[in-house]
Amino acid sequence: MADGAHVESGVEVIFTADQIAVRLDELARDVAARKLDQLLVVAVLKGSFVFAADLIRALHRIGLAPEVDFLTLSSYRKSRTSSGRVEILRDLDLDVTGRNVLIVDDVLDSGRTLAFAKDLISARGAASVTTCVLLDKQTRRAVDVKADLHAFLCPEVFVVGYGMDVAHRYRELPFVGRVTGE
Ligand code: 5GP
Ligand code: MG
Repeated sequence: MADGAHVESGVEVIFTADQIAVRLDELARDVAARKLDQLLVVAVLKGSFVFAADLIRALHRIGLAPEVDFLTLSSYRKSRTSSGRVEILRDLDLDVTGRNVLIVDDVLDSGRTLAFAKDLISARGAASVTTCVLLDKQTRRAVDVKADLHAFLCPEVFVVGYGMDVAHRYRELPFVGRVTGE
């Protein structure tokens, strides 16, 4: 596998860079089909930074010119399990009032982070809020929230790579994998 050259020992590939690239172009077409005027992409940091960077370039390839802002939220902190509370670590710079917002996040798990981001942006008067996640762990929801778009359904494992970390490691991997500890 092409990704094999990059595999760190102890990380097993779940979604390859090639699989991700295919889905990015499909997602961009799905976003374009929604005809969201003056689109504002809000990337939920930190985990979505690689996905968001690739998605906005896929949007560009099909002729969209989104504005981009960043919202840093925390729920997991240093642990692998959700604390149940979501905090704003760094807020948006832009005013979302009247905007069509596409929230981009890495993993939809308990749903608390995405629900928090959606509620925040809706409450600030966005014209519409659409959600797009890289990975949807559909079986683990604690709050009732759905992603409008997802790249992949994800098994109930802790994933790393493609922007996602465990204890600040593995964000640089070009694929999504799981730590096997070997
Ligand atoms: P939720 O609030 O839906 O429980 O969790 C969402 C956030 O937790 C995601 O945005 C992501 O940052 C983090 N998260 C959830 N599952 C994983 C995982 O398997 N790996 C990593 N690295 N982060 C995860
Ligand atoms: Mg996240």
